[in-house]
Amino acid sequence: MKGEEFRHWSRKAADWGADYRETLRERPVRAQTQPGEIAMQIADIPPEVAEPMEQIFADFEQKILPGMTHWQHPRFFAYFPANAAPVSVVAEYLVTVMAAQCMLWQTSPAATELETRVIDWLRQALGLPEGFSGVIQDSASSATLAAVLTMRERALEWQGNKEGLSGQSRLRIYSSDQVHTSIDRAIWVAGIGEDNLVRIPAGGRFRAMDAAALETAILADKERGFLPAGIIACVGGTSVGGTDDIAAVAAIAQKYGLYLHVDAAWAGSAMICPEFRHFWAGIEGADSIVFNPHKWLGAQFDCSVQFIRDPDSLVRTLAIKPEYLKTHGKDGIINYSEWSVPLGRRFRALKLWFLLRAHGLEGLRTMIRNHVAWAEALATRIAAEPGFELVSEPMLSLFSFRHAPEGVVDLDAHNQQLVNAINDDGRIYLTQTRVDGRFAIRFQVGQFEAEEQDVADAFKVIAEVAASLEHEGNVKTVEPA
Ligand code: PLP
Repeated sequence: MKGEEFRHWSRKAADWGADYRETLRERPVRAQTQPGEIAMQIADIPPEVAEPMEQIFADFEQKILPGMTHWQHPRFFAYFPANAAPVSVVAEYLVTVMAAQCMLWQTSPAATELETRVIDWLRQALGLPEGFSGVIQDSASSATLAAVLTMRERALEWQGNKEGLSGQSRLRIYSSDQVHTSIDRAIWVAGIGEDNLVRIPAGGRFRAMDAAALETAILADKERGFLPAGIIACVGGTSVGGTDDIAAVAAIAQKYGLYLHVDAAWAGSAMICPEFRHFWAGIEGADSIVFNPHKWLGAQFDCSVQFIRDPDSLVRTLAIKPEYLKTHGKDGIINYSEWSVPLGRRFRALKLWFLLRAHGLEGLRTMIRNHVAWAEALATRIAAEPGFELVSEPMLSLFSFRHAPEGVVDLDAHNQQLVNAINDDGRIYLTQTRVDGRFAIRFQVGQFEAEEQDVADAFKVIAEVAASLEHEGNVKTVEPA
């Protein structure tokens, strides 16, 4: 494809995208297909000869689209949002069309220099003190891996990469059980081993890790000759928004010389609103913080920002400089590939620059404040509805609930059935979690284009579907003795 044909199909894709976004409300949120249904329609051998674009595009609409779950749908209340504000989509088109490999300063100076600038814009926007610098990683999982590798190398006095872990002291890392599984994976991949991720009990309204228990665990490990390396705290955990007392954890990290990484992948976006910053009070004591503008803020996936207090430790852990990657004759440049595990990097800063300029912080704050207010109002409404109960109170715009009508024998099975029925209905999309062993339905409001009416509609759908399960006799009641 070249010349006029490229122009034609690019325009067609842009028009299709605008129509798609405008008609999202008419579509079921979650794909309504069965496993294998899409694969069945795709040829099982690759084409030997070129096919016309008209046919390829028509197949996209007919065969692929029905199997898509619409993450930009205003009534997507599942997981966490993966917002792609239209302006960030426009920036992504430009990035895609230039398709630059931005691994080194010289492979696109603008990408590096804009990244440094927007990272500092975000530092200011989140109220972080000067002195934090940062990098855009592809995902929070990668940022956490980079932080865990840094903890490891720092604790091993920079010998782990060279000598490996055998024969080294047993490394220990501490977190509560509210952290995302990306923490477990980072511990696996870093060679530290799941058994050395010490789970500290958590409790209270926000399920914060018990600081006294954390200190006791560190002391016990030292006593046994183990090597405490770092702590991973969370602000806005995935299940129900678990949030640690960062000031207390940071004080312990400092006391024992441990590296502190804070995962605020989802909740970090809310810190552009000063009134929510109490959730991470003490954050200036962290060594590394990750937050995903690709979740709530509106920067198209992938875009995960890692703030770092001492980038030298990260670079010392990850930088590798063969001759073919050196830039000679330029001082003071940053090569961001030395700050991350992958070498290749997309130009991710452009969509942040477009997003922040097109909406302004005030526009983004309004969106987040609305989401929080609407989630709180919905939680209050559900709590007041007969037969429903809240399982976890709102943390920002996330809460969980369950349907507990009288006489139901197996509430877990009933709520599983309810969440499936809601998603089969298609008007909204919800997912589940377990809270203290009990099945609960999660609800988060965070879609870039959600309106108050969408949240009100969600209540209607939940109540209607729950009632229809009861009427259809699908609610198992206690058998009379
Ligand atoms: N941390 C938290 C709290 C999350 O909720 C998630 C994903 O939802 C992650 C980390 C992983 O994010 P990513 O997909 O960017 O690796």
